[in-house]
Amino acid sequence: MKYSGLTGKVVIPGDPGYEEARQEYNEAINAYPAVIVYCSDPCDVAGAILWSRERDIELRVRSGGHSYEGYSTGTNKLVIDTACMHHVKVDAAGGTVEVQAGGRLLPLYERLYRCGYAFPGGTCPSVAISGLVLGGGIGLSTRYLGLTADSLIEAEMVDARGKLLTANHACNPELFWALRGAGGGNFGVVIGYKFRLTEPVNKITLIRLRWDDNAPARIEFLRVWQEWLPHLDRRMSAFGGIYKLGAWINAFFYGRPKEAGQILDPLLNIPGLTLENINYIPFIDAVKIIGAGYPKREAFQTAGRFVQRPFAQSELAGLIDIMDKAPSDRNSSLRVYSLGGSVRDLEIDATAFFYRQADYIMAIASSWQSEAEAPSHKEWVKAGFNYIYRITRGSYVNFPYSQTPDYERAYYGEHLRRLRRVKQEYDPCDVFSFPQSIKI
Ligand SMILES: Cc1cc2nc3c(=O)[nH]c(=O)nc-3n(C[C@H](O)[C@H](O)[C@H](O)COP(=O)(O)OP(=O)(O)OC[C@H]3O[C@@H](n4cnc5c(N)ncnc54)[C@H](O)[C@@H]3O)c2cc1C
Repeated sequence: MKYSGLTGKVVIPGDPGYEEARQEYNEAINAYPAVIVYCSDPCDVAGAILWSRERDIELRVRSGGHSYEGYSTGTNKLVIDTACMHHVKVDAAGGTVEVQAGGRLLPLYERLYRCGYAFPGGTCPSVAISGLVLGGGIGLSTRYLGLTADSLIEAEMVDARGKLLTANHACNPELFWALRGAGGGNFGVVIGYKFRLTEPVNKITLIRLRWDDNAPARIEFLRVWQEWLPHLDRRMSAFGGIYKLGAWINAFFYGRPKEAGQILDPLLNIPGLTLENINYIPFIDAVKIIGAGYPKREAFQTAGRFVQRPFAQSELAGLIDIMDKAPSDRNSSLRVYSLGGSVRDLEIDATAFFYRQADYIMAIASSWQSEAEAPSHKEWVKAGFNYIYRITRGSYVNFPYSQTPDYERAYYGEHLRRLRRVKQEYDPCDVFSFPQSIKI
């Protein structure tokens, strides 16, 4: 048997489940792996790593399959998939939660909320904890609770030799440092995480503002956003953006609506608001309302850059100009994701996440329905990216873009040399390699 020796659930071309198993969240990714191994424990993972090395078949590591560029799969590759490992164990007395690598965000939020806790995760319910935390992890609690990676206290990883390692401040500290911001697919297969629990949380204020069919609000939104953010109360985190016809913002505030309303005043004063929704609701309801905005899957291209300074009026006009040329009225956008607050409490060197001092992330995103539309959307993202690239510094590794120049420096800045040393130590034969992996 060609695939004998592999343990776990093995799916190969021709198997009934193969078509579904080869899919990623991004429908524009169309890879045909040689074999997909759904692992249930570290032995399955170690076996798959050694099996692929013996046969010289390149491998990829997948958990939630949400990599924008499909770096968790590949044609003719062996895909190690952790989706079957999704157990969550809360230790309230010890103040920790253990999450297996394939755990998705919504079940994690739900489990923690039942025990009375929030979690500094992202907004998409089906993203897995692995890709999120290994790249840093931002969401609507980030300014208050820090990056997802900032709550991580331990990880367990199977390395290129199939050995199970523990990484924390005392044990494999350099690996632990690297995993918090640069760990996705680079050093080994992480199989589980231990996080520090947040303080107990019940209700928060969910904010949703919209300026629909209101093109003039767009430049005003970007201007107010960049003036507002540097002084923003850290209990509030916001994701928003502009599209061809208008602007929007979603935010969580760890406080009451009245205070939230005052903090939001500059935004509420932008003329032509079509939705003003500021509600005090259970944390988990707020998570679900935001999560409901995501389609099950879609075809898209997105790239995200760190913004380190306010843009001049002419630069804001340049961004509006990009938006005016968008291929879609509603499915092309420039998005903004707040940083600051707790993210800045740690030193830049505390973890591999280099761009801690940035004010926010700006992403250019476009999604399409049919294959025929894809080229115009990709060209628009490329042209927009080229402009944004010139006025920003650094790229967010969890919003990867294959055409980023000098991608290692873009993702890791001055941490690159240290990361290369970690790579050399833990993966000297470059077993964990993909088009934008850390090179030795
Ligand atoms: C709709 C959508 C919404 C998103 N929202 C947010 C958000 O709010 N905040 C945010 O920060 N990001 C967000 N992201 C980006 C997301 O964090 C990244 O795409 C993340 O890498 C996805 O993780 P995954 O495990 O689901 O994906 P995968 O495609 O499985 O993995 C992503 C990368 O991590 C590696 N990897 C996966 N599992 C492991 C493992 N066990 N060990 C080692 N390496 C591994 C893969 O090889 C790949 O390079 C969003 C993405 C999408 C598509």
